Amino acid sequence: MKEQGLRTFKAGIHPPYLKELASGKAIKEAPVPEEVPILLQQHVGAPNEPLVGVGDHINLGQKIGSSEAFVSAPVHSSVAGVVKGIQEATNATGQKVKAVVVTPDSNQPQFSGVSRDIEALNAQDIVSIAKDAGLVGMGGAAFPTHVKLSPPKDKPIDIVIINACECEPFLTCDHRLLLERPEAIIAGLKLFMRAVGAEKGVIGIEANKLDALDGLRKAIGGSADIEIEVLEVKYPEGAEKQLIFAVTGRKVPLGKLPSEAGCLVQNVGTSIAMYEAAAFGKPLYERVITLSGPGIKETANLKVKIGTRISALIEACGGLTEDASKVIMGGPMTGWAQAELSVPVIKGTSGIVVLTESFVDVRDEHACVKCGKCVEVCPMSLMPNYIVTATQKGEWDKAEMWGALDCFECGCCSYTCPAYIPHVSYVRKAKAEIGAAKKAVKK
Ligand code: SF4
Ligand code: SF4
Repeated sequence: MKEQGLRTFKAGIHPPYLKELASGKAIKEAPVPEEVPILLQQHVGAPNEPLVGVGDHINLGQKIGSSEAFVSAPVHSSVAGVVKGIQEATNATGQKVKAVVVTPDSNQPQFSGVSRDIEALNAQDIVSIAKDAGLVGMGGAAFPTHVKLSPPKDKPIDIVIINACECEPFLTCDHRLLLERPEAIIAGLKLFMRAVGAEKGVIGIEANKLDALDGLRKAIGGSADIEIEVLEVKYPEGAEKQLIFAVTGRKVPLGKLPSEAGCLVQNVGTSIAMYEAAAFGKPLYERVITLSGPGIKETANLKVKIGTRISALIEACGGLTEDASKVIMGGPMTGWAQAELSVPVIKGTSGIVVLTESFVDVRDEHACVKCGKCVEVCPMSLMPNYIVTATQKGEWDKAEMWGALDCFECGCCSYTCPAYIPHVSYVRKAKAEIGAAKKAVKK
């Protein structure tokens, strides 16, 4: 284990982390909500079609939506109850998606699955289990896990990295899982390693979670093929390409996937979900999320049923403070500000952060002063200022040339810009226009 000379990636920023607001709060179960809208599209890839109808009684963990497409992930019910409707619901990004709305039974059962010997599972078994359980990346990306576990044959994976950075301010759910579930995390990592035939596993953890090391070391035990790499505390250390560079020194080329560098990255929560799916047949229908920020009365780390509305969770935390002014689904750097609190938690939701007026820096955008700060901090070595100019002029080919499609919307550029330019909004606009232009050419 290396603790000295902490490794990291190039560029990035050091925002105030404020994790102490929730890091000491042990995980508790959130109440069962009165109504549960479960979105049929919670992942990158094809949407699911409902497998149930209005009036059906469904069981806890029952598959309620699936798709024939390879890049997709089925959804399962987070409660036992009756299907009240199949209707459109708004997701965290403001899009309308189809949802199965369930009215939970007054008595909720414990999950009863299978009991499997995980040592007996081969690579194909593990990939199938991940697919059937609807596993996706739980750090926010929500990419289907079975797809990540099926890299091209000519791109062998030799290292699996568990992303234990949780580099976004306020969020602490992964930190709590590292403290409270280290055995499950290591068991999941071993399953991932077996699935892709990797010789080595690494826990990449930021140096602000050193209290988790003892538990992780105990869980690793005598497994010489698993290491812990303590990394510098810096945002966005937990971004996939940046983490791979920090841990291995390997660079994933622009536009390519981690398999290009022989790596597979999985989140802490996904690792636990993999273990639970393999050992007990438990689908991904609940997850741990952080509720934090100065605008919420009680901060918490809650185990939440997928489909629980933001409003129910805020209520479970005592409500909003009088000066609460902005509710964000996810962290403050990459999350989405919410206009309405009826939006439900999905598999990729890691937190709900509530800011007060003094935390929300709403200042008018000015003209670029050409200071170059956005370029200095961009972890992808892009030219954010040029992407903005191209977008303002509607020059989509130039926006693409300056790297709009390689931007992963970390927000470092906007955070550091003295002209308060919201680069990420411009990048999102450019991505949409470039995507639309490419589709039109194909037709
Ligand atoms: S351009 Fe994209 S990747 Fe670069 S700092 Fe800005 S948001 Fe992050
Ligand atoms: S940080 Fe802002 S003002 Fe400075 S070059 Fe970038 S866009 Fe322009």
